[in-house]
Amino acid sequence: MLPRHLTIATVLALTSTIQGSAQNPANANRLPPTNQEMFAPFPMPAPNGHRGTRGGPGPGYWQQEASYTIRATLDPAAHRVSGSEVIHYTNNSPDTLSDLWLQLEQNLFRPGSRGALINSGNRWRGSFPAGGVRLGSVVVVQDGRRYPAEHFEDDTRMRIALEQPMAAKGGRVDIEIEWSFVVPEYGADRMGRLQTQRGWVYEMAQWYPRMYVYDDVEGWNPMPYLGQGEFYLEYGDFDVEITAPRDFIVVASGSLLNPGEVLTAEQVKRLDRARTSDETIAIVAPAEVGTPASRPSGSAPLTWKFRIENSRDFSWAASSAFIWDASNWDGILLQSAYPHEGLGTPDNPGWERSTEYLRHTISYYSGQWFRFPWPSAVNVAGVVGGMEYPGIVFCSVRARGQGLFGVTDHEFGHNWFPMLVGSDERRYAWMDEGFNTFINHYSNLEFYGDSASRSQRTSADFIAGRMQEPIADQPILTYPDLLRGNGLGFMGYRKPGFGLVLLREVVLGENRFVRAFKAYTAEWAFKHPQPSDFFRTMEAASGEDLSWFWRGWFTTTELLDQRVAAVTDSTDGTRIRLTNEAGLVMPVLLRVEFDDGRTVDQRLPVEIWATGDDYTLFLEDRGRVVRVILDPEVKLPDVNRTNNVWVRPTSE
Ligand SMILES: [Zn+2]
Repeated sequence: MLPRHLTIATVLALTSTIQGSAQNPANANRLPPTNQEMFAPFPMPAPNGHRGTRGGPGPGYWQQEASYTIRATLDPAAHRVSGSEVIHYTNNSPDTLSDLWLQLEQNLFRPGSRGALINSGNRWRGSFPAGGVRLGSVVVVQDGRRYPAEHFEDDTRMRIALEQPMAAKGGRVDIEIEWSFVVPEYGADRMGRLQTQRGWVYEMAQWYPRMYVYDDVEGWNPMPYLGQGEFYLEYGDFDVEITAPRDFIVVASGSLLNPGEVLTAEQVKRLDRARTSDETIAIVAPAEVGTPASRPSGSAPLTWKFRIENSRDFSWAASSAFIWDASNWDGILLQSAYPHEGLGTPDNPGWERSTEYLRHTISYYSGQWFRFPWPSAVNVAGVVGGMEYPGIVFCSVRARGQGLFGVTDHEFGHNWFPMLVGSDERRYAWMDEGFNTFINHYSNLEFYGDSASRSQRTSADFIAGRMQEPIADQPILTYPDLLRGNGLGFMGYRKPGFGLVLLREVVLGENRFVRAFKAYTAEWAFKHPQPSDFFRTMEAASGEDLSWFWRGWFTTTELLDQRVAAVTDSTDGTRIRLTNEAGLVMPVLLRVEFDDGRTVDQRLPVEIWATGDDYTLFLEDRGRVVRVILDPEVKLPDVNRTNNVWVRPTSE
């Protein structure tokens, strides 16, 4: 998802607002000055057979499997999608299950839904008179028996009562559901449709009834879809057939299985060429959109067949207005689909460069963290500002320049967190948005170097400024649906994202950090990590007790203010007294300048604060100190930099 402040056309320099030592109201209860509470062991659930001592999955780890066979038809005249599906559900848990919980996310758009009322008029709105899913038959196939399922709907949820419980450790059922819904024009900024000069662009997500997660932590997780909180989904394989009018192009998660049936011979040839090309190849060029030669002859609708394996979701887009291009990176088909409205100018490039941006994103993150696991990556221009799905993302048709790069890089960054590493987004936005903001920061610097726009990266002074605003008065670990106002952008994205930058650049150093973060990504790929699994993996792989960091950064709203209190000469050296003026503790980055021109950089471990807020460094150097600077390279989110410098008075 795209943070509010990164919406399109806001590639503005974000100004920081460092204002002295303004106090966050939440800091009224300062920790006792010993800081012992900050350094105490961080409370985490005890390791068990499911989740191990070192943070990885334990020997008894299990998760459910949900695979889907879906047939859907798009009727643009009514903006309706009708479908039937079979959910192949496997119970790998040690529990027998007598009921099943499913998500009906289209019901967010039913007038009077919980989300419609909570989000009245805001970004997550979207209810309209015809909104909501209409269910047809719901049938369970269990142990060779087929029976109409006893079920009830409650808002965005459905519960099915099984006639007999599913066996533990391998029991299976198939659930057959028929459904239809009218596509909202604006679907909570996550899906919807956009009218263009050459027809509607449909972006389809949260569109089919699907399983809630059953896990070892909560059992069922039937949290209603309220809008702001995102998704927690099982892994499985998807076979999806989408039938659309003949003049439509359909793009989706996974591989297109039947290009010969839905493309012209020339388009099949172009697509094959794109599969081995570093250059971007037009499959449907701008001038070809809407021409008879651009579609196979005939008049009947066409059925597009897709498959993606080991995925937590499946999304798609369809339009008669699509320009479509493609390219290859290391066997992965990179594609962009966009209407004419997405084209830019040489001065302000638009979607004609999207596939080039995709190449950077897919190759860069593959090299840094984990190889992109799916066969195809599609960027779609439409009404959605920025939203991520496995192998396909939706970005605003109005995005241009660094804004388009930034949103493409962000949404596809989500293919690592949370599409690959399947965390619980509805509870822990920071484990997907925050981690993604962190990897985006380095990706932007890699692509643009120093000309990377500030809104696409993150910095200590920006964070320090925001931490003092009312928007930052809830801790990162707050569930997204409980965040006030526009708090999500800071607590879900910026603060946790910068927290990982801090861990990497100040606390652990690049080598230890990268090794640990890669370990987390690999161990939890295609699985369901909890916050404690992340915390433990980072500690185990780096060899560091980070209790003070998790507590300070993730569970409090404390600020950081390090101060040079005094510098005293003596015959054998210089005493530099430092104080910690606010609640957060961090290592100290100290620069000392001597009158002979020498500069000494000294890093002090965070443990200098373990016994109090007052620390004196005895510098065994007979040189005459003329200047002392805390955090000279602005790596720490220090809220008051006016007390970071000591300069020897000229009279001395
Ligand atoms: Zn996001």
